[in-house]
Amino acid sequence: MKREVCTGCSLLCDDIIVRSDGLFIDEIYGACLKGKEHFDQVISPNRIVKPMIRKEGKLISTSWDEALNKTIELIKESKDPIFYGFSTVTSEAQLKGLELARIASGYIDSNSSICHGQVLDVAKKTGISLTTLSEIINKADLIILWGANAAESIPRLLGKIVFSRGKFRMTGREIKTLIIIDPVKTASFNVMGVRDIALRIEPGKDFELIKMLKEECCTENSIPEKGIAGIDKSDLKRLLVQLTNAEYGVIILGQGILQANQKLNVIEELLELVEMINNKQERGRISLMTMGGHSNMVGFDQMTLTFYGKRGGIKFENGNPIDSDDNIISKITRDNFDLMFVVGSDPIAHFPKALSSKIAKKPLIVIDNKKSATTMVADVVLPSSITGIESGGLMFRLDMTPINVKPIIKPPSNVLSDQEILEKLIEKFKGGGK
Ligand code: SF4
Repeated sequence: MKREVCTGCSLLCDDIIVRSDGLFIDEIYGACLKGKEHFDQVISPNRIVKPMIRKEGKLISTSWDEALNKTIELIKESKDPIFYGFSTVTSEAQLKGLELARIASGYIDSNSSICHGQVLDVAKKTGISLTTLSEIINKADLIILWGANAAESIPRLLGKIVFSRGKFRMTGREIKTLIIIDPVKTASFNVMGVRDIALRIEPGKDFELIKMLKEECCTENSIPEKGIAGIDKSDLKRLLVQLTNAEYGVIILGQGILQANQKLNVIEELLELVEMINNKQERGRISLMTMGGHSNMVGFDQMTLTFYGKRGGIKFENGNPIDSDDNIISKITRDNFDLMFVVGSDPIAHFPKALSSKIAKKPLIVIDNKKSATTMVADVVLPSSITGIESGGLMFRLDMTPINVKPIIKPPSNVLSDQEILEKLIEKFKGGGK
């Protein structure tokens, strides 16, 4: 039995016990259902174990050589390729993806740009007070889930941060107040106790709520009698008391707040509110944590920031990054691409129909270990090993802590890691020139 890291989601739990002989996984202890399903992917009927290319409208199995050569042929024919995904692979593979995009003069982005990456973009202007899981476990007395259904998307997060006993505290759950701000009564509401506060905000009214909280921070008694955004006055007062009196509060931001308020500067307002409270607070502070779900979504942003000084979305031309206002959505919306290369993601299923139908019309290459709506319409499918189970490398947990993951078993014969596939493509691309 060995302690291993689960790569089923961005929590990267490093306390999973696995019994394995190096060929098969016999037992897994401590993983949540989502983690167990991730390990089950090894023997899933949905698994892809052979390279495939589309011939006469049908995807058929082929050799690695033919699949890689076809991929290079398509990339070389393309004038404006998009490289997308990279959120469930190691950072070593992400760097190879960046290199391939660079030599192919393409645009590269990860799922982060339509998720938590927006927060980091805004933070360039306002600054941001981030925190780590250890800080929350050891110090937090206030945890706010804002549009974040942690119980279902990061199943063990609440167990670790709400029900744990911190190093610097004599007590655990008893002193932690959980506040959930969400229009939907999600599964996360089920863990609430008597001292916790459930705030069912009206959909898309987060901006109004934050504005009012900012106003109340400056001028007391500015809460309207009838409340705001569907939340009554007494609950708003309780929320403010918690925010301004917490010794160590954390706001965990989920898709709910990011997606529902895209046209408003809701993140900018929220970051300003946090700064305002922290400036006023004498004994405590409020921090933020974003709750992106993919196992190494944070890693892609770390790589682009480290090597290109920019978070996410990079356009290359003649081997160099160039300034571009484009993002993945604007590029697809404006049909500003002629090929899509997807790594470990399923944009056909996840993007709105108007965008996915544009993607499906262009040449499509996918690296993945499981069948998806995207592999079904792809022109080339390259099978990859499962990161954290069959191949290892560096990943970044949702709080941006680097975690090294190691392979537990060998991948099926003839299956390569994402990094190895990308390395072969780079080699072939350079061999022939564009
Ligand atoms: S919470 Fe995420 S990382 Fe932890 S066991 Fe579940 S799926 Fe795996």
